[in-house]
Amino acid sequence: MFKIAVAGTGYVGLVAGVCFAEVGHQVTCVDIDENKVSMLKSGVSPIYEKGLEKLMQKNYVAGRIDYTTDFVSAYKEADVIFIGVGTPEQSDGSANLSYISTVARQIAESIEKSCLVVVKSTVPVGTNDKVEQFIQDFLVNDVHVEVASNPEFLAQGSAVHDTLHADRIIIGTESKWAEKILTDVYEPFNLPIVSVNRRSAEMIKYASNDFLALKISYMNDIANLCELVGADIQDVAKGMSFDERIGSKFLNAGIGYGGSCFPKDTKALEYIAKQQGYELKTVKAAIEVNRDQKTKLFKKASKRLITFNNLKVAVLGLTFKPGTDDLREAASIENIPLLLEQGAEIYAYDPVGAENFSKLYPEGKLRNGSMTYVDSIEHALDQANVCFIFTEWKEIKEVSPEIYKKLMRTPLIYDGRNIYNVENMQEMGVEYHSIGRKFSIRKGVKKIEFQNS
Ligand code: NAD
Repeated sequence: MFKIAVAGTGYVGLVAGVCFAEVGHQVTCVDIDENKVSMLKSGVSPIYEKGLEKLMQKNYVAGRIDYTTDFVSAYKEADVIFIGVGTPEQSDGSANLSYISTVARQIAESIEKSCLVVVKSTVPVGTNDKVEQFIQDFLVNDVHVEVASNPEFLAQGSAVHDTLHADRIIIGTESKWAEKILTDVYEPFNLPIVSVNRRSAEMIKYASNDFLALKISYMNDIANLCELVGADIQDVAKGMSFDERIGSKFLNAGIGYGGSCFPKDTKALEYIAKQQGYELKTVKAAIEVNRDQKTKLFKKASKRLITFNNLKVAVLGLTFKPGTDDLREAASIENIPLLLEQGAEIYAYDPVGAENFSKLYPEGKLRNGSMTYVDSIEHALDQANVCFIFTEWKEIKEVSPEIYKKLMRTPLIYDGRNIYNVENMQEMGVEYHSIGRKFSIRKGVKKIEFQNS
């Protein structure tokens, strides 16, 4: 078993640290955020991830994991140091590597014995080479240190499960010594390991994420065409899914991808290509489709209504997907300012994301409209003039068409996640617009129609 330090206690670092402890390693998680560290020490997870808090508490009590802001004490005697700090997008699309370089320098100035530094954060191809050189440049003690790449593939909302039961572990190393250490660290997980060189490992991460983003944008592009030609995207996806070459996952059309990875990783790879004088046309297209998709329903609703001024707008779902409290690049972040600008009175419901959202958009009068956070879907819908659905939380999926019809002032829904059956909405007399499917109109007014008819 190894003495492991993990830099960064976000979605990646914390989950990795807890799972390393769970399989028996001795782990110290480091963060610069004192609030986070004191929460962690008291057994509270600063992020919402199913099953995480329980594992944190279990391994803390067992003495296999601890948390600190004191990086020197954590790094100086570690066998392996994982880096899981953020690499956010910069305005030109490139990845911001300043958090990585800060940690690299802290490691160089702290370590007192030979160790392997492992970059888990998503970084541009070639960054690991630079991190190794950077550590050598700032090294204080005469110790052997190498850098390896170990990109992370967990999905938020199922991060613990994805780590303990990953499809594969990618390790990118430049020596047998580093390869052996990293293989041994992962040995207790009993998962398939793919061992490649560092640059290939870095590229595998971008290529995988961008492929998934492309798949989503492709389905959204086809969905938009379905609306114009009278086809149904869900039937189309079902038909496609039987083909094993295509696969059945990531075929759901919707209001576009969000989160902390796909948007920034597509832009970062496009930027890397541009720097090499190469145009990555496919990824560029995925980015463009996604940008337009995010406000598709807002534009549709704007055509249908005169204005949102003084209208009660119910917003169901704020997070970028269910199972997480993360709001980064969520559809809500794109659409709510547009609605507020037009004077909407927004009543927002999200089972876990409302607190984080209210830090960005506090309750009360805002811009030309207002923001209210409510604890129930019914409260949000009560006497609402229009409803937008941005996240397919289970409790939102369970709301029946009757509830919309009964509670809303005007039963008018714009569903960015295609969660309801169009015919059921039509039966109930609810006007229901979604993505790539027919839309229903209120009973007695007009039959189910395609968007362009
Ligand atoms: P995050 O923003 O949730 O967490 C980063 C943490 O690092 C923060 O708690 C921050 O306080 C801490 N930090 C910053 N500087 C530090 C320092 N010098 N020492 C110690 N801690 C420091 O980030 P995240 O979502 O966990 O992502 C981390 C990386 O993993 C990114 O490169 C991301 O692209 C990649 N990744 C993320 C996911 C995901 O689903 N979130 C999945 C795969 C890969």
